[in-house]
Amino acid sequence: MRIYECVCNTPLFFDNSQCLSCSREVGWCPNCYALRALEALGNGVYCCTHPDCAAELVKCQNYQQYDVCNRMVARSEYERGFHFCDCCRCNSIIPDLSIPGAQARWSALERAKRRLFYTLDLLGLPHQSASDPCPELPLSFSFMGDAVPEGQGRWRWAGQDVVYTGHAQGNITINVREADDAERERMRVNMGEEHRTLIGHFRHEIGHYYWELLVKNRDEEACMSVFGDHRSPTYAQAMDTYYANGPAPDWRTHHVSAYASMHPWEDFAETFALYLDIVSVMDTAEGCGLCKPMKDNTLEATLGHWARLGIMLNELNRDMGLLDFAPEIIQSKVIEKLRYIDRLITQGVSVSRGTGQ
Ligand SMILES: [Zn+2]
Ligand SMILES: [Zn+2]
Ligand SMILES: [Zn+2]
Ligand SMILES: [Zn+2]
Repeated sequence: MRIYECVCNTPLFFDNSQCLSCSREVGWCPNCYALRALEALGNGVYCCTHPDCAAELVKCQNYQQYDVCNRMVARSEYERGFHFCDCCRCNSIIPDLSIPGAQARWSALERAKRRLFYTLDLLGLPHQSASDPCPELPLSFSFMGDAVPEGQGRWRWAGQDVVYTGHAQGNITINVREADDAERERMRVNMGEEHRTLIGHFRHEIGHYYWELLVKNRDEEACMSVFGDHRSPTYAQAMDTYYANGPAPDWRTHHVSAYASMHPWEDFAETFALYLDIVSVMDTAEGCGLCKPMKDNTLEATLGHWARLGIMLNELNRDMGLLDFAPEIIQSKVIEKLRYIDRLITQGVSVSRGTGQ
């Protein structure tokens, strides 16, 4: 993520809601698309302090009420009844806040979601909510927890005892348990995964969303030629086989992860997530001066930078006893899949973009 700057010259970080030096309130300005210090004008209205912008803004409802957001809404939009920012307006179900710890978990989910939206906007990928005019496939999020016996508090749920993280028809469900660090690490170890992160879940599930929006009935033949036929075996058959026998022994040659070897749809989502990882990290690396702005931004050049950066960061992480930063070895088959996704994103985004950007 880029690092922004307060009017007092102190760095502002993407999740900040206040400058730690001059105590000015801070918010994401949808007009200049950056994190800015705010000047209060009274009655809940603020002004963006960037001299070229000076937009009149109001805090997103989730910023005002729960402090789980740091984005602003244009005053004119707010007065037309749009009280949520471009990220929060996609929420369909939020956690049951009567449960202890729920607000902190929700906040962690929203932080990851804002980072996802930043990268989608960087790539020009559409993400329309149901409140946008004529969305082709409205994107929505349901943050739900497993039902627990009465009397112990109950996460909000939708007719099932166990909530599965996943995507269906534009709706991304994330189990709130994933926002609990200890729980998530336990699941990572149990599943034998190299990484398990909230942002990783968002990047994977949005991959399913873009398959539905950009590939389905538009580019399925080309996608199948790279990822395989998603119709045979069916998703249900592939899932049964995967959980009965485990991943194919040679999955590393063809897939970015063991899970990607389950079915072409999972392969697409896992590869899409890796693509977003790479784009996000390279943007940060450039923004922080860790690498020079790339003159040649072809996929091949980007992957070269990513490999060099990955080796360096893996060693730095090992110095600190942390998990490897970039554990995956990108084989030629995976590069072919990344190339498909790169083409889809850079040449194939033909649906209209969402508002609020
Ligand atoms: Zn400041
Ligand atoms: Zn601004
Ligand atoms: Zn918001
Ligand atoms: Zn998936």
